Amino acid sequence: MRSTKRRRTSFTLFTPGPVMMSDDVLRSGAEPLPYFRTDAFSQTVLNCEAMLLRLLKAPAGYRTVLLTASGTAAMEAALGGFGDHDSLLVVNAGAFGERFAEICRFHRLPHEELKIAPGAPLPSRGFEAPASVTAVAVCHHETTTGTVYDLNAWDAFCKANDALLVVDAISSFLADPIDMSRQSADALILSSHKGLALPPGLSFVVLSPRMIRKLETQRARSYYLDLKRYLKEGARGQTPFTPAIGVLRQLEKRLEALGQKGADAQVHRTALLARDFRKKIRGLPLDLFSSNPSNALTALEPRDGRSALWYVERLREDFGFYVCPNGGDLKDRVFRVGHLGNLSVRDNARLAAALKKLAALKSNRRLAA
Ligand SMILES: *Cc1c(COP(=O)(O)O)cnc(C)c1O
Repeated sequence: MRSTKRRRTSFTLFTPGPVMMSDDVLRSGAEPLPYFRTDAFSQTVLNCEAMLLRLLKAPAGYRTVLLTASGTAAMEAALGGFGDHDSLLVVNAGAFGERFAEICRFHRLPHEELKIAPGAPLPSRGFEAPASVTAVAVCHHETTTGTVYDLNAWDAFCKANDALLVVDAISSFLADPIDMSRQSADALILSSHKGLALPPGLSFVVLSPRMIRKLETQRARSYYLDLKRYLKEGARGQTPFTPAIGVLRQLEKRLEALGQKGADAQVHRTALLARDFRKKIRGLPLDLFSSNPSNALTALEPRDGRSALWYVERLREDFGFYVCPNGGDLKDRVFRVGHLGNLSVRDNARLAAALKKLAALKSNRRLAA
């Protein structure tokens, strides 16, 4: 596996966002910004929308809106398409599913939660859905546990119940397969600083024609996040408010590069990295936490009696490797190693060697850096 050359930094991010960026992207970020209310910039926006839809294999009639905000804003904006007469089913298998539920509570949206134990699969015997579901909100990849869920199952459920499907694909895009020509999500949510390996600042909602019609019937609950405004301005390649101009220019470069090989090639590359890392740490006292691990990251549970946080801190302090701690109940139990962004099998080898050294320590003392 080749990786593009990378500027030397004193740290390596194995976090699921932000992630290591390529030199091309970094260089582009250093360029002066153009004014954006111009035809040339509109062309950039339209070009990005078209390339993104192509990578997702979205059918004709789908649109993408582009928000200058992190992914949570896109989650909130997508749920802005629903109101008092709706009844949502929120799938909560971790902190990001919980975020969907919090947004529902905040906006007093009628909803029920389907709770799934962290890292566990969907209940195989099915589940009890509220009587008249009008929409389902689900995380394709629950980033806090590293578990990927089957979109086909939710697609089928929504079709059978005539419900709309809202999918948070923020951390699965370009890591696990998404094919919108087969899994008909009505609102698919993405952001810039995960698989796209760009700086934070942009998020996206990909909308089906049905969802666009639904949005038009709904009074917005937020001024800034009213997707109707973005759809209207977006038709001519503009945004209602100043976009993250620099990130957009980086996005255009990135999408051009990805477009040459297609999303499948990038998914394949991420899958190889994930498999390579899991192979390299075999034999270490670290268990895979998830029942259905994504390609985006590996959630690990130490079984040598050490806290997950100890590993996180030692990797950072002694080696300059950033891996992700967990919150809540999993804080001491689980840490996560990301495979998104500009990483290589050599980076995996360096991290696996560090983990091996740490696991072999007799005491919990600090390693000399
Ligand atoms: C990163 C992420 C988000 C968004 O978090 P932000 O802090 O707003 O960037 C939402 N859902 C999932 C599954 C994520 O991984």
